[in-house]
Amino acid sequence: MRILIAEDDEVLSDGLCRSMRQSGYAVDCVKDGQAANTILSGEQPFDLVILDLGLPKVDGFSVLKGLREKNRQVPVIILTARDAEEDRVKGLDLGADDYMIKPFSLPELEARVRALIRRGQCGVNPVYNCGTLAFDSVGRRAMINGETLDLTTRELSVLEALMSRIGWVISKEQLLERLYSYSEEASSNAIEVYIHRLRKKIEPAGVTIRTIRGLGYIIDKVSTTHG
Ligand code: CA
Repeated sequence: MRILIAEDDEVLSDGLCRSMRQSGYAVDCVKDGQAANTILSGEQPFDLVILDLGLPKVDGFSVLKGLREKNRQVPVIILTARDAEEDRVKGLDLGADDYMIKPFSLPELEARVRALIRRGQCGVNPVYNCGTLAFDSVGRRAMINGETLDLTTRELSVLEALMSRIGWVISKEQLLERLYSYSEEASSNAIEVYIHRLRKKIEPAGVTIRTIRGLGYIIDKVSTTHG
Protein backbone atom coordinates (compact mmCIF):
# COMPACT_ATOMS: atom_id res chain seq x y z
CA MET A 1 0.00 0.00 0.00
CA ARG A 2 1.43 3.34 -1.09
CA ILE A 3 0.32 6.56 0.54
CA LEU A 4 1.11 10.13 -0.49
CA ILE A 5 1.13 12.80 2.20
CA ALA A 6 0.98 16.40 0.92
CA GLU A 7 1.43 18.68 3.94
CA ASP A 8 3.66 21.74 4.34
CA ASP A 9 3.71 21.77 8.15
CA GLU A 10 7.04 20.05 8.91
CA VAL A 11 6.08 18.75 12.35
CA LEU A 12 2.74 17.37 11.23
CA SER A 13 4.17 15.94 8.03
CA ASP A 14 7.03 14.18 9.83
CA GLY A 15 4.68 12.76 12.46
CA LEU A 16 2.27 11.50 9.81
CA CYS A 17 5.01 9.93 7.71
CA ARG A 18 6.56 8.19 10.68
CA SER A 19 3.31 6.75 11.98
CA MET A 20 2.14 5.60 8.53
CA ARG A 21 5.48 3.91 7.88
CA GLN A 22 5.28 2.18 11.24
CA SER A 23 1.90 0.83 10.16
CA GLY A 24 3.58 -0.76 7.18
CA TYR A 25 2.62 1.63 4.38
CA ALA A 26 5.10 2.88 1.80
CA VAL A 27 4.87 6.63 2.30
CA ASP A 28 5.97 9.57 0.15
CA CYS A 29 5.81 13.08 1.55
CA VAL A 30 5.66 16.32 -0.43
CA LYS A 31 5.55 19.83 0.96
CA ASP A 32 3.80 21.78 -1.79
CA GLY A 33 1.07 21.37 -4.39
CA GLN A 34 3.40 21.44 -7.36
CA ALA A 35 5.40 18.51 -6.03
CA ALA A 36 2.11 16.71 -5.30
CA ASN A 37 0.99 17.15 -8.91
CA THR A 38 4.32 15.89 -10.21
CA ILE A 39 4.41 12.75 -8.09
CA LEU A 40 0.70 12.04 -8.70
CA SER A 41 1.14 12.12 -12.46
CA GLY A 42 4.05 9.68 -12.21
CA GLU A 43 4.10 6.01 -13.11
CA GLN A 44 3.56 4.63 -9.63
CA PRO A 45 -0.08 4.74 -8.54
CA PHE A 46 -0.94 5.57 -4.95
CA ASP A 47 -3.54 3.71 -2.90
CA LEU A 48 -4.45 6.79 -0.88
CA VAL A 49 -3.65 10.51 -0.68
CA ILE A 50 -3.67 12.65 2.48
CA LEU A 51 -3.96 16.21 1.21
CA ASP A 52 -3.61 19.46 3.12
CA LEU A 53 -5.76 22.14 1.46
CA GLY A 54 -3.50 25.06 2.39
CA LEU A 55 -0.39 24.12 0.42
CA PRO A 56 2.24 26.50 -1.05
CA LYS A 57 2.62 27.01 -4.83
CA VAL A 58 -0.52 25.10 -5.84
CA ASP A 59 -3.30 24.73 -3.25
CA GLY A 60 -4.88 21.42 -2.28
CA PHE A 61 -8.13 22.22 -4.11
CA SER A 62 -6.28 22.48 -7.43
CA VAL A 63 -4.38 19.26 -6.76
CA LEU A 64 -7.64 17.46 -6.01
CA LYS A 65 -9.43 18.98 -8.99
CA GLY A 66 -6.59 18.00 -11.32
CA LEU A 67 -6.59 14.47 -9.95
CA ARG A 68 -10.34 14.00 -10.49
CA GLU A 69 -10.20 15.59 -13.94
CA LYS A 70 -7.66 12.96 -14.92
CA ASN A 71 -10.22 10.49 -13.66
CA ARG A 72 -7.93 9.17 -10.98
CA GLN A 73 -10.16 7.48 -8.42
CA VAL A 74 -7.56 7.22 -5.66
CA PRO A 75 -9.15 7.86 -2.22
CA VAL A 76 -8.31 11.31 -0.86
CA ILE A 77 -8.51 12.54 2.74
CA ILE A 78 -8.28 16.33 3.02
CA LEU A 79 -6.84 18.14 6.02
CA THR A 80 -8.47 21.45 6.93
CA ALA A 81 -8.47 24.05 9.69
CA ARG A 82 -11.18 23.98 12.34
CA ASP A 83 -12.88 27.19 11.22
CA ALA A 84 -12.99 26.32 7.52
CA GLU A 85 -16.34 24.67 6.98
CA GLU A 86 -16.58 26.16 3.48
CA ASP A 87 -13.28 24.55 2.57
CA ARG A 88 -14.46 21.15 3.70
CA VAL A 89 -17.63 21.44 1.67
CA LYS A 90 -15.68 22.58 -1.37
CA GLY A 91 -13.18 19.75 -0.91
CA LEU A 92 -15.91 17.12 -0.68
CA ASP A 93 -17.65 18.63 -3.71
CA LEU A 94 -14.40 18.35 -5.64
CA GLY A 95 -14.29 14.64 -4.91
CA ALA A 96 -12.51 14.19 -1.59
CA ASP A 97 -13.59 11.00 0.18
CA ASP A 98 -13.12 12.15 3.75
CA TYR A 99 -11.70 15.01 5.80
CA MET A 100 -9.89 15.59 9.06
CA ILE A 101 -10.00 18.82 11.03
CA LYS A 102 -6.68 19.98 12.46
CA PRO A 103 -5.54 19.22 15.06
CA PHE A 104 -6.58 15.59 14.81
CA SER A 105 -5.60 12.38 16.50
CA LEU A 106 -3.32 10.04 14.58
CA PRO A 107 -5.23 6.89 15.59
CA GLU A 108 -8.41 8.42 14.16
CA LEU A 109 -6.72 9.34 10.90
CA GLU A 110 -5.29 5.82 10.65
CA ALA A 111 -8.74 4.33 11.23
CA ARG A 112 -10.11 6.47 8.40
CA VAL A 113 -7.22 5.42 6.15
CA ARG A 114 -8.04 1.77 6.84
CA ALA A 115 -11.74 2.38 6.20
CA LEU A 116 -11.06 4.01 2.83
CA ILE A 117 -8.65 1.30 1.76
CA ARG A 118 -11.25 -1.28 2.78
CA ARG A 119 -13.91 0.53 0.77
CA GLY A 120 -11.54 0.63 -2.19
CA GLN A 121 -11.34 -3.14 -2.02
CA CYS A 122 -15.11 -3.48 -2.00
CA GLY A 123 -16.27 -6.57 -3.80
CA VAL A 124 -12.83 -8.08 -3.44
CA ASN A 125 -12.38 -10.60 -0.68
CA PRO A 126 -9.84 -8.91 1.59
CA VAL A 127 -8.69 -12.26 2.99
CA TYR A 128 -6.33 -14.26 0.80
CA ASN A 129 -5.81 -17.96 1.39
CA CYS A 130 -3.06 -20.35 0.40
CA GLY A 131 -3.17 -23.76 2.08
CA THR A 132 -3.82 -23.09 5.76
CA LEU A 133 -2.16 -19.70 5.48
CA ALA A 134 -4.55 -16.75 5.45
CA PHE A 135 -3.76 -13.08 4.96
CA ASP A 136 -6.22 -10.48 6.18
CA SER A 137 -5.38 -7.36 4.17
CA VAL A 138 -7.65 -5.08 6.18
CA GLY A 139 -6.53 -6.21 9.64
CA ARG A 140 -3.00 -6.58 8.21
CA ARG A 141 -2.19 -9.92 9.75
CA ALA A 142 -1.29 -13.38 8.61
CA MET A 143 -2.69 -16.50 10.22
CA ILE A 144 -2.09 -20.22 10.14
CA ASN A 145 -5.20 -22.09 11.25
CA GLY A 146 -6.45 -18.90 12.85
CA GLU A 147 -3.24 -18.33 14.84
CA THR A 148 -1.72 -14.93 14.08
CA LEU A 149 1.90 -15.10 12.94
CA ASP A 150 4.53 -12.87 14.47
CA LEU A 151 5.69 -10.82 11.47
CA THR A 152 7.40 -7.45 11.14
CA THR A 153 5.67 -4.72 9.12
CA ARG A 154 8.08 -5.26 6.20
CA GLU A 155 7.53 -9.02 6.27
CA LEU A 156 3.79 -8.35 6.24
CA SER A 157 4.12 -6.11 3.20
CA VAL A 158 6.12 -8.73 1.28
CA LEU A 159 3.66 -11.44 2.21
CA GLU A 160 0.70 -9.24 1.28
CA ALA A 161 2.18 -8.58 -2.16
CA LEU A 162 2.65 -12.30 -2.75
CA MET A 163 -0.70 -13.39 -1.27
CA SER A 164 -2.68 -10.80 -3.21
CA ARG A 165 -1.41 -12.33 -6.45
CA ILE A 166 -1.34 -16.07 -5.81
CA GLY A 167 -0.22 -17.92 -8.90
CA TRP A 168 1.61 -14.89 -10.28
CA VAL A 169 5.29 -14.12 -10.16
CA ILE A 170 6.09 -10.93 -8.26
CA SER A 171 9.36 -9.33 -9.27
CA LYS A 172 11.90 -8.01 -6.81
CA GLU A 173 11.27 -4.52 -8.22
CA GLN A 174 7.54 -4.82 -7.49
CA LEU A 175 8.32 -5.87 -3.93
CA LEU A 176 10.72 -2.96 -3.52
CA GLU A 177 8.04 -0.55 -4.76
CA ARG A 178 5.57 -1.93 -2.25
CA LEU A 179 8.02 -1.70 0.59
CA TYR A 180 9.82 1.53 0.05
CA SER A 181 8.78 5.00 -0.97
CA TYR A 182 10.89 7.02 -3.43
CA SER A 183 12.75 8.74 -0.63
CA GLU A 184 13.84 5.60 1.17
CA GLU A 185 16.99 3.71 0.41
CA ALA A 186 15.95 0.36 -1.01
CA SER A 187 18.13 -2.70 -1.25
CA SER A 188 17.28 -5.88 -3.09
CA ASN A 189 19.39 -7.83 -0.58
CA ALA A 190 16.87 -6.81 2.06
CA ILE A 191 14.10 -8.46 0.02
CA GLU A 192 16.07 -11.71 0.04
CA VAL A 193 16.37 -11.49 3.81
CA TYR A 194 12.60 -10.93 4.23
CA ILE A 195 11.81 -13.82 1.87
CA HIS A 196 14.18 -16.10 3.79
CA ARG A 197 12.55 -15.24 7.14
CA LEU A 198 9.05 -15.53 5.72
CA ARG A 199 9.72 -19.00 4.31
CA LYS A 200 10.54 -20.25 7.80
CA LYS A 201 7.51 -18.60 9.34
CA ILE A 202 4.96 -19.87 6.82
CA GLU A 203 6.45 -23.38 6.55
CA PRO A 204 3.98 -24.85 9.10
CA ALA A 205 1.13 -23.94 6.69
CA GLY A 206 2.62 -26.15 4.00
CA VAL A 207 3.25 -23.07 1.91
CA THR A 208 6.50 -21.82 0.46
CA ILE A 209 7.87 -18.91 -1.57
CA ARG A 210 9.61 -20.15 -4.68
CA THR A 211 12.37 -18.21 -6.37
CA ILE A 212 11.85 -18.00 -10.12
CA ARG A 213 15.34 -17.20 -11.30
CA GLY A 214 15.58 -13.90 -13.14
CA LEU A 215 11.87 -13.18 -12.63
CA GLY A 216 11.00 -12.98 -8.97
CA TYR A 217 8.98 -14.89 -6.42
CA ILE A 218 5.76 -16.84 -6.28
CA ILE A 219 3.88 -18.16 -3.28
CA ASP A 220 2.66 -21.71 -3.56
CA LYS A 221 1.66 -24.79 -1.61
CA VAL A 222 4.51 -27.22 -0.98
CA SER A 223 4.02 -30.13 -3.35
CA THR A 224 3.41 -33.38 -1.47
CA THR A 225 4.17 -35.60 -4.44
CA HIS A 226 7.74 -36.70 -5.02
CA GLY A 227 9.73 -36.20 -8.19
CA1 CA B 1 -0.83 24.03 5.23
